[in-house]
Amino acid sequence: VDDSNFVTRPPVVTIMGHVDHGKTSLLDKIRSSKVAKGEAGGITQHISAYTIEQNNQKITFVDTPGHAAFSAMRARGADVTDIVIIVVAADDGVMPQTEEVISHAKASGCPIIVAVNKMDKETANMDMVKAQMAEKEMTPVDWGGDIEFIGVSAHTGQGIDDLLENILLQAEILELQADPDAKAKATVVESLLEKGRGPVATVIVQNGTLRVGDNIVCDTTYGRVKAITNDMGKPVKELGLSETGNVLGLNDVPVAGSFMVAQNSDKEAREIATTRAEHARAKELSKSTKVSLEEMSGLIAEGKIKQLPVIIKTDVGGSLEAIKGSLEKIQNEEVKVKVIHAGVGGITESDLILASASEGCIILGFNVRPTGSVKQKAKADGIQINTYSIIYDLIDDIKDALSGMMT
Ligand code: GDP
Ligand code: MG
Repeated sequence: VDDSNFVTRPPVVTIMGHVDHGKTSLLDKIRSSKVAKGEAGGITQHISAYTIEQNNQKITFVDTPGHAAFSAMRARGADVTDIVIIVVAADDGVMPQTEEVISHAKASGCPIIVAVNKMDKETANMDMVKAQMAEKEMTPVDWGGDIEFIGVSAHTGQGIDDLLENILLQAEILELQADPDAKAKATVVESLLEKGRGPVATVIVQNGTLRVGDNIVCDTTYGRVKAITNDMGKPVKELGLSETGNVLGLNDVPVAGSFMVAQNSDKEAREIATTRAEHARAKELSKSTKVSLEEMSGLIAEGKIKQLPVIIKTDVGGSLEAIKGSLEKIQNEEVKVKVIHAGVGGITESDLILASASEGCIILGFNVRPTGSVKQKAKADGIQINTYSIIYDLIDDIKDALSGMMT
């Protein structure tokens, strides 16, 4: 008997953007303008997620520490975000981190809305932002593309209702559904050890209802929900679909990006967590997750994969365009290169995280090298970085990989 009871669940939205373009201000403005009067004054401490209501419909916002953290979560399988908002300052336009954010957002597959912030400024220039974004294949709807651009101001509040309405429209298209009666499953977006309270996990409920008293497992940690406080810091008995709050009662601090899942008994919860901890230790001892261009080539030869995901970093824009152009040309009918991100500059930690979020992704450097620490981290994470100083060598390697000839 199928006794599931699916209902529409509120969307979970993540805001990303170049530093100082107004991410935090916008999140604060949305929150303070939407909470009930009298409660607004109570908002003091920063929280990593909150839920608001717009026309009786809920929206949950998550504040990630940055787009790298966003992809790190995805790399762990925690796709908590339904919709991505990219913030671009109307006076500054597209900046280097905006380009990174675009790549991270696209790789997530989530619908994207562009919030053009600081529209209150005299130097605001919406058309400039649209033109720059269109160049990055983010073409506005009114220019024949499919990305909504909403002018907003975190200072005056202008455009915020528009932005929220757009989020609800996108959410409707996504038909987000979940079952409030199912066993609770939540994603941990932040965690810490609080003096006197023990491990605290900030979660967003993805399915079911999380209740005080539930036996829970969270990666290799477990426990029983002792108390829950909601996003206003008030004690509550439960958290519903897409709602967010702090959960007390785990025996240890869980990793951000892990899932909190309710179990039938405390015994079950403990067993699952201990088995996982043992597996994790065993895996740590035999790290062998490395993907190499040779292995990808082998998988292509066996017909197991049809795409070779790459990140391209070069020293100058000219070579970037040349390499991108050549790679796009060499695709044979069945197998193709998928450029996850292409940018000018050194190979950074952000590139590594983006690579680990896309299975089998190889980083290609032309006349750029990773720094010592990035190199070490890549090795630890099993991400291959190939560096070249001759374009033809790079192209030839990819040609060989695509034709499965590297094995
Ligand atoms: P974040 O780094 O993206 O989180 O950016 P912040 O929210 O910290 O904002 C950076 C700076 O831009 C701060 O000085 C804000 O006061 C300012 N700022 C943010 N939003 C607006 C806006 O809509 N209009 C104006 N004029 N300034 C803004
Ligand atoms: Mg900020």
